[in-house]
Amino acid sequence: MSEPRILILGAGPAGAATAIGLRRLGYAVDIVGDWRRFDAVEGVSQRVLEGLRHAGLSRALEQAAVPARRRVHWNGVSQQLNQECLLDRQLFDRALRDDLRDAGVEVIEGRVREVDSDAHGHRVRLDTGEVLLAEFLVEARGRQAPLASNRLRGPESVSLLNLWQGAPGEPFSAVESLQDGWAWMARLADGRCYWQVSLDVSSSRVPAKPQLPEYCAQRRRQSALVAELFGADAWQPATVHARSSTAILAGECSGDNWLRVGDAAMAVDPLSGNGIFQSLSSALQAPAVINTLLRRPEQRALARRFHQARIEQLFLRFARIGRDFYAQEQDKVAQPFWAQRQAWPDQQPIHVPSDFRQLQVVQRPVVRDAFIEPAEVVVSPDQPLGVWHLQGVPLAPLVHGLQTGQGLDELLRGRSATEQSMLRGWLAAQGYPG
Ligand SMILES: Cc1cc2nc3c(=O)[nH]c(=O)nc-3n(C[C@H](O)[C@H](O)[C@H](O)COP(=O)(O)OP(=O)(O)OC[C@H]3O[C@@H](n4cnc5c(N)ncnc54)[C@H](O)[C@@H]3O)c2cc1C
Repeated sequence: MSEPRILILGAGPAGAATAIGLRRLGYAVDIVGDWRRFDAVEGVSQRVLEGLRHAGLSRALEQAAVPARRRVHWNGVSQQLNQECLLDRQLFDRALRDDLRDAGVEVIEGRVREVDSDAHGHRVRLDTGEVLLAEFLVEARGRQAPLASNRLRGPESVSLLNLWQGAPGEPFSAVESLQDGWAWMARLADGRCYWQVSLDVSSSRVPAKPQLPEYCAQRRRQSALVAELFGADAWQPATVHARSSTAILAGECSGDNWLRVGDAAMAVDPLSGNGIFQSLSSALQAPAVINTLLRRPEQRALARRFHQARIEQLFLRFARIGRDFYAQEQDKVAQPFWAQRQAWPDQQPIHVPSDFRQLQVVQRPVVRDAFIEPAEVVVSPDQPLGVWHLQGVPLAPLVHGLQTGQGLDELLRGRSATEQSMLRGWLAAQGYPG
């Protein structure tokens, strides 16, 4: 049987990580991507750098590792933190393409105009009129991916990104809460300055496009933090780019011959600062899901369930993290922007306290040897998808043994001292009384 042709739409971090993962499994992969149309800078944490390394995106990693001092002005408290790295999205996206080419992925530069799909395959027409055919399609066009349906949508939000040129200086970033939203700002070493305000679509009075630069300039002038950080450069004229930053969870994230990854599957509120992290997370599991859909048709339903459940779980986790960060702003509960976001998506805590009696051993899909397979895992209210093993040691036999009356010493017999201490530590964290 000939190898299926896999085509990925969108060469952002999610598309790139999926492509390289598929190459590692021996698949031939093509990726088609249009260049980002605006200059942007984004802040990422250490976890993103680890994710990029893990995904084999080493050139992109070099572009992301620019450390910047960081200020947080939230709930009336100003803090100096030293934890953000800044990335210039245009350089970062170019580096992603270099990584793709190095990995042997065919990179086609172009804009996708139309996609026709059926059970046998996909026909993708580009702006140039060129037509690409594929048996399997990965949708990774980020927020621009057409959405058939959404399962969950956060309060409608818009972000206005201002860019202007100032004098070169030490890079920094800062975040500040406002009465009707919040602002993120940064300066790169070459003097490019960014200020991005995120607002509620229905309650804010954002003017039409021609008035946006003046509206934003006025708002920048109202911020003492902007004046302090950018100094004389703060009032330079800026270009403004408006984009939606509403949190969106896509309805269905897979079919038998297609998969959504990254922002195309779930786009989080930029407040969480985790967009690239979550897009890499969904992409890192994608190759095993696609491998199963293509090579083990009998496990397709399981693979699809696995992908959907993980996307939904990740989305809800970040949505709740965002909610709790908004909720820290105690003085602003009466403002529509804050009231909506402090209550969305629900009132469930991010973590549920551990109770050993609530642990259950059940079958769930897991990734084993690059396929999705069923395995016995331990689920709890805090880990509804289940935990399969801890550094290679399966947990289900241990929990099952304890629940059926076996002694802990007996269950740990034969394990190394390091494993025993790791397993005792894990059990203690689950509320095991002994
Ligand atoms: C206002 C805002 C601020 C953000 N700030 C941060 C931040 O500070 N830190 C952070 O980690 N994340 C941030 N994010 C989120 C982050 O940008 C995304 O989560 C991440 O880039 C998603 O990766 P992706 O690969 O899924 O999609 P993208 O990075 O969006 O990549 C999709 C690619 O597909 C291409 N494409 C789109 N349509 C077509 C088409 N028709 N044909 C061909 N190609 C196409 C695009 O050009 C792009 O290259 C922010 C998001 C927003 C909206």
